[in-house]
Amino acid sequence: MTAVSYEEIARAFQDGDPRELSDRDLAARFGCAEEFVARVRREGGHARYARRFRSLRERAEAKVRELSEPVGDGHREWTGPVSRDGVPVVHVRGLTTTVGRVAFQMANGRPPVGNVKPGCRRAHCVAPGHVTDRLMREALRAPLAEVGA
Ligand SMILES: [Zn+2]
Repeated sequence: MTAVSYEEIARAFQDGDPRELSDRDLAARFGCAEEFVARVRREGGHARYARRFRSLRERAEAKVRELSEPVGDGHREWTGPVSRDGVPVVHVRGLTTTVGRVAFQMANGRPPVGNVKPGCRRAHCVAPGHVTDRLMREALRAPLAEVGA
């Protein structure tokens, strides 16, 4: 059996959402023991696997597609519920999240870090490709030299 490195599993947690990656699935993918995956998760401080998480996310994403409509130039406008502050929100099984967070995950395959804001200057735009999180905004501000250009 080929030994999978600790770093490969740690990277899988970083690239995806640990809540959607079970020890069993990762062990099968990498051909290692579940206990090894569990140790990487624990030591890296990654969130626990949550069986219902994926279906909740898929329900939220379906609502975001249903309740938003294209308004030109790739922007999308929200037609669903908003918070008291006018922020687009989505309710799934008693849980509420902002549409921006759902849209971000749809476009980037990972949960956002920090606040989610449209990067296109259209207020409350919910186009998945237009929303940014703190990591993306910091990367955009970094001098090109630091990006390794
Ligand atoms: Zn936009």
